[in-house]
Amino acid sequence: MERTCNWILKTTDGEWFGSPVDIFRLVKGVSTDTRTLCPNQLYIPLTGEHFDGHQFIGQAVERGAAAALWKKGRPLPESPDIPFIVVNDPLKALQQLAAGYRAESRVKVIAVTGSNGKTTTKDLVASVLSERYSVHKTKGNLNNHIGVPLTLLSMPEQTDLAVVEMGMNHSGEIAVLSKIARPDVAVITNIGESHIEHLGSREGIARAKLEIREGLSSDGTIIFDGDEPLLRLYLRDETRSQIRVGWLEDADDAPEQAEVMGTRGIVFRSRKKGTWFTLPLLGRHNIKNALYAVEVARHFSLTEQEIASGLANANLTGMRLELKKAKNGMLIINDAYNASPTSMRAALDLLAEIEPEREKWALLGDILEIGEQEESYHREIGVYAMKKGINRLYTIGERGRWIYEGAVEAKNSAQTLVHFHTLDDAVNSLTKEGNQKSVLLVKASRAAQLDQIVNKMTEGA
Ligand code: ATP
Ligand code: MG
Repeated sequence: MERTCNWILKTTDGEWFGSPVDIFRLVKGVSTDTRTLCPNQLYIPLTGEHFDGHQFIGQAVERGAAAALWKKGRPLPESPDIPFIVVNDPLKALQQLAAGYRAESRVKVIAVTGSNGKTTTKDLVASVLSERYSVHKTKGNLNNHIGVPLTLLSMPEQTDLAVVEMGMNHSGEIAVLSKIARPDVAVITNIGESHIEHLGSREGIARAKLEIREGLSSDGTIIFDGDEPLLRLYLRDETRSQIRVGWLEDADDAPEQAEVMGTRGIVFRSRKKGTWFTLPLLGRHNIKNALYAVEVARHFSLTEQEIASGLANANLTGMRLELKKAKNGMLIINDAYNASPTSMRAALDLLAEIEPEREKWALLGDILEIGEQEESYHREIGVYAMKKGINRLYTIGERGRWIYEGAVEAKNSAQTLVHFHTLDDAVNSLTKEGNQKSVLLVKASRAAQLDQIVNKMTEGA
């Protein structure tokens, strides 16, 4: 983004504290973090749980900020070396700047939301669209009220298409993001159970995701999980174009003859056009994520050949179903990045299916933020793992204990269960017992820190 201080002043409805000659000074991008601020950026001080960005203004000036926003009511620095634009709320101003920049841009925006698979789908969509267009996408997982504006403001002027991931914890949040980004295409990957504690029910979750329509252009398109009855129900009266992707008979496009090629990925055919696609990803759930990308690409007129090439060369954000080799020769599927009951079941499906010659082991831990029914969700995962024929189930953590207890009741005599009390116990035991004949899935919410176990077991391997 390159705009004058005057543009920022007007867009944020701010007040100018600086020399009048500086009002047409050019600002090149924005930064909310003085550790990474680049010369000539606008510094936006945000107030978080632990830090107040206003305290770092000295550093922002030192690093060459062109100007800074400032919250009304805070005393301004004594000898201001740069101009200040005083606003009621710097966070709101950040969002206004993003909305303003997006509104003036010719870019088409693809917004991706859903309970699971947003980042994966965002990366697949961007990878495919890059075959033809200049594409900008959300970095990593920066999908919230700060990340979405920063994503838009870091978009180069000549961008054709922007792929923006939108996440949320509460109702109303996606509506805000959608009104800032004003998508032309909206993708809803699925409805799961994440954040149910704030949203009350799956219906509440579905409605919150559908807020993505609030900023969607009047001739926009919604591409969504056609296997989800709630989405179908709530979209019945929607007049904008809809594309249903799923396994059901009446889906607009469905995967056919999907086949898992060991740990190399998946091949499948699109029913709509008969094209074969190769996906360098693990997990059947990713087939649908890939088909969303296919539909977005078709919407922007890519050829089937371009789409196939974009999928085959997909470049993904790390720690999602990552394959690693442990020092003792055991194969590890690291999915310690996050977890919900839906994604836990999807990962167990994958484990059951790949590498048929190896023993299937899983180390599962706490799933957080799933509300009052958390105990029954965890117990059901234990039962599910046993039904899937997992040979050894290891659990860890306070809630992981429920997975263990659920499994106890469902296990057969050939299945082994072990509950660990500490991360060290897990590392020691798995290091001793693991071998080349086993494959271990590691999965829990991020806070359980199971990635530490993976790191210790694979260091120097
Ligand atoms: P976050 O809320 O952290 O941003 P996300 O929605 O971006 O998550 P990803 O990071 O792409 O999701 O994937 C997270 C997990 O969800 C992975 O463990 C993956 O196995 C699982 N997953 C991905 N897509 C689906 C899907 N369509 N259905 C069920 N599980 C899925
Ligand atoms: Mg994500």
